Amino acid sequence: MPERSCLLDLPPAELPSPPGQGSYRARQLAHWLYQRGARDSAVMTDLPAAWRAELGDRWRIDPFERSERFTSQDSSVRYLFTLPDGQRTEAVYMPYRDRKTVCVSSMVGCPAGCTFCATGALGFGRNLSRGEIVGQLLSVAHHEGFAPTELRNVVLMGMGEALLNYDAALGAIRTMVDQAGLGLSPRRITLSTVGLPSRIRRLAQERLPLVLAVSLHAPDDATRRRIIPTAHAHGVADIIAALHEWQAAGGRRVTIEYTMLEGVNDALVQAEDLALLLHGLVVHVNLIPFNPWRGSGFRSSSRATIDAFARVLERAGVRCSVRFSRGRDAGGACGQLSLQGA
Ligand code: SF4
Repeated sequence: MPERSCLLDLPPAELPSPPGQGSYRARQLAHWLYQRGARDSAVMTDLPAAWRAELGDRWRIDPFERSERFTSQDSSVRYLFTLPDGQRTEAVYMPYRDRKTVCVSSMVGCPAGCTFCATGALGFGRNLSRGEIVGQLLSVAHHEGFAPTELRNVVLMGMGEALLNYDAALGAIRTMVDQAGLGLSPRRITLSTVGLPSRIRRLAQERLPLVLAVSLHAPDDATRRRIIPTAHAHGVADIIAALHEWQAAGGRRVTIEYTMLEGVNDALVQAEDLALLLHGLVVHVNLIPFNPWRGSGFRSSSRATIDAFARVLERAGVRCSVRFSRGRDAGGACGQLSLQGA
């Protein structure tokens, strides 16, 4: 039997319908997929039986061969998904009291190769498709026992650099915000990037009020180049210029991700430089204690150093908070489950 295509790879408006029945059946199918979270056409009882069988023969709904679930003491849940070609990617479910948040991956591994990142150490496997990105949300909802429409926040901050897989990541976001899809507000979707100026400018033209999270991790090119290979091609000044354009085009707040690495980027003078660099942007800085993994060669800055760094930013009028990554005991930061060969 030939490999079946995945229905989730299609925009909701382009879902199939039986010959001669217009888009009515396609809308019913979208409802089953995205509102009800159906994973088998056999349960779609208001669709004609013959067409249900045909759908099942020609299309798959779940893009994953296998979904493994790892619980954490902080109540987050990590998922390791095995794709039909045997490659693996990850997502994290973070249940908060008043909202359900899922962090998804856009790739298997990552080509950016940031030296402090477990995913970067894996190297690049491949891009995920639109359906493989959206499918992570549907799988998590299914395994956690809630309807996909109960999701409140999505973060594209797992494995991969989403803006290097631009079309699939944007396609997935379009399915998320489509009323015939998950119907999520774009304001509740955060897209994380290592800082690719031309892609940020392109994203600004999409006029989607997403939250952009930029992994800056250092205020100067010399330090950035020590830890982020893409910094050789893209200087800090160009990234900041692109962020000004993003905000001028109606883009929303930008969050600056800053992993605190002892002796690398945590000097108070670097906090002063960061505040100067961000002047004029509407930003929130997330200071992230480094989550150690075997072989990384880095240590986290101490809590006292992080607090002092935060005080410099606050005194300069830059909003910031210290963010601990969730799921540390269930495989830690993205990529660690795969690195462990879980
Ligand atoms: S920090 Fe992000 S961009 Fe850098 S290697 Fe890790 S996943 Fe890729």
